[in-house]
Order: sequence, then C-alpha cells, then structure tokens
Amino acid sequence: MRIAVLALQGAFIEHEQMLKRLGVETFEIRQLNDWQQPKDGLILPGGESTVQMHLLSQLGLLEPIRQAILEGLPVFGTCAGMILLSADHLGTMSIQVLRNAYGRQLGSFRTVNRVETIGEDIPMTFIRAPYIEKVLSDQCQVLAEVNGHIVAARQGHQIVTAFHPELDNDTRIHQYFLNIIAE
Ligand code: GLN
Repeated sequence: MRIAVLALQGAFIEHEQMLKRLGVETFEIRQLNDWQQPKDGLILPGGESTVQMHLLSQLGLLEPIRQAILEGLPVFGTCAGMILLSADHLGTMSIQVLRNAYGRQLGSFRTVNRVETIGEDIPMTFIRAPYIEKVLSDQCQVLAEVNGHIVAARQGHQIVTAFHPELDNDTRIHQYFLNIIAE
C-alpha cells in the first residue's frame, strides 16, 4: 500500500511518521508531477486552508485531486484538510464547515472522546480548528461530536477529523483509514 500525502504546507510530516509506524509507505505531493504516481489513498493535512487552496489551484492540482476523489480515491482530511473537502471548497464531501470555530480563547485544546465504530477515549488535539456545522447528505455519517459539535465524519471512502490524530500516539484513526482503503 502506498499513500500520497499533500505536502504543500502544514502538518504533513506527522502523518508520514504515523503511517510509517503502521508499516505503510508514503510519498509527498508537492507538484503536479508527483501526483502522477500510483497511490492507494490520499492524506490532506492540517495547516492553513486558504494557503493550501491557493497553492493547489496555482499548481494545477485542484481539479486532478477533486476528480480522483470523485472517482473513488480514499481520502483522509484533518483540520484544514477537512475544510478542503467541504462543500465550499473541493466539495467532494457533503459537509458545511465553520473555520476557526472555537474563537480565540478556545482556539486550541485537547480532549478525549468516543469515535463511532473506532473506539473510546480517542485523544483529540484541536488547533484553531473548524467543526462541521451541517451535514448536507444522509450519505455522510457523523463519527464524533465534542461539546455538541460534529468533529469527525465519514462519507464512503472519505473521512475527516477537525482534530489532529497525527499529533498523538494513538494510531486508531489512521488504522481505520487504512481499513477503508483495504475494504
Ligand atoms: N485554522 C485553519 C484554517 O482555517 C485550520 C487549522 C488547522 O489545520 N490546524 O484553515
């Protein structure tokens, strides 16, 4: 199995390290050329979604990535990556997100919570995180909520978390993504 990690900006190295721990090979997407390599899945890391959107479009990566996801490429978006997949951006996932949703004071925090079908006590690190304001299709399954807000969801071969599992030691969410790829 070989997984592409978008490496334009943000927390991509932590995803690579996590996947390495799980015995999975990764490669970085920095330009259109990199995208041509065969891949079984794609990770869209956290960072700054406005910057990432701008770079994706400048590099001509926006449409190829969107098409590949629509054609069934499994994708995992964390934080800014979740924003990229949402209705107002790439639009492959039927979710409406609110950026920087926790305001300045609560901008960054940690908690543990249950994630449906994955398990209990999953560590959740939020960094100026978004949450999902609205699920726009019944194809989209809510996986986790924190303080009444949706923070993880799955729609077929796409999963998103508002938090950063790559920054904690718990590998269950990444393992869940690998299971989706193997399905
Ligand atoms: N605040 C960032 C954005 O709006 C997301 C933060 C993150 O990815 N940690 O794009």
